[in-house]
Amino acid sequence: MSNLLIEMMDKVFDTIIIGGGSAGCVLANRLSENPDHNVLVIEAGRRDSWWDIFIHMPAALTYPIGSRFYDWRYQSEPEPFMNNRQVYHARGKVLGGSSSINGMIFIRGNPLDYEKWAKDPGMESWDYSHCLPYFKKSENRTAGANFWRGSTGPLYLETGPATNPFPVRADEPDHKLIQSSYPKPTLISLPPYSLTVIRGANKK
Ligand SMILES: Cc1cc2nc3c(=O)[nH]c(=O)nc-3n(C[C@H](O)[C@H](O)[C@H](O)COP(=O)(O)OP(=O)(O)OC[C@H]3O[C@@H](n4cnc5c(N)ncnc54)[C@H](O)[C@@H]3O)c2cc1C
Repeated sequence: MSNLLIEMMDKVFDTIIIGGGSAGCVLANRLSENPDHNVLVIEAGRRDSWWDIFIHMPAALTYPIGSRFYDWRYQSEPEPFMNNRQVYHARGKVLGGSSSINGMIFIRGNPLDYEKWAKDPGMESWDYSHCLPYFKKSENRTAGANFWRGSTGPLYLETGPATNPFPVRADEPDHKLIQSSYPKPTLISLPPYSLTVIRGANKK
């Protein structure tokens, strides 16, 4: 039995989180802000080592996807409407979860969905304007904050260096289009997207 395991057995935890993926890590980070709250995260996959370029180098993302060392490599049940084919489904098997092997594209949920949810009884505070402060709180946009985006949160966001003249003409188009028609936002989102990348590294 490892020393770490023996050490853990002597401890009492207030919260045990199974799975150190995107959701598990966010939860652990927030809960452990209180030094009196002991949190244990149990992750079945490998470590997120600092030297692991397959996780940290954005352009290397095709290596962990499909690799048994980083990916659960699920197969769907036979799909009756696809000639009973089984479909490969990637899921991260590493601390950081699927966000360690994902495409790093950061797009908020469609505002129209939030508006729709808010129409259900008891869901009034799920409309986009209520959620926006929380989105902003989570973001650290390297290009700076504005009405729509935050710059003091834990999630680093860079905008990709796209050169196509159509999307580039609109600053931050995935939200610009939404902005132009707020509070009845449109469905459209276009690149250049924000990426959860900072100084050339995947920061999840
Ligand atoms: C290939 C790929 C590309 C993607 N691209 C994007 C993108 O560009 N932009 C975007 O926003 N989203 C993207 N996603 C989706 C996004 O990464 C996921 O929606 C998100 O990471 C899911 O978070 P989660 O916490 O629900 O699950 P996960 O992050 O998958 O975390 C689950 C964790 O639980 C662990 N676990 C499972 N079973 C056990 C067990 N029994 N005991 C302990 N631990 C266990 C797993 O190893 C994993 O670490 C992509 C996903 C994939 C797979």
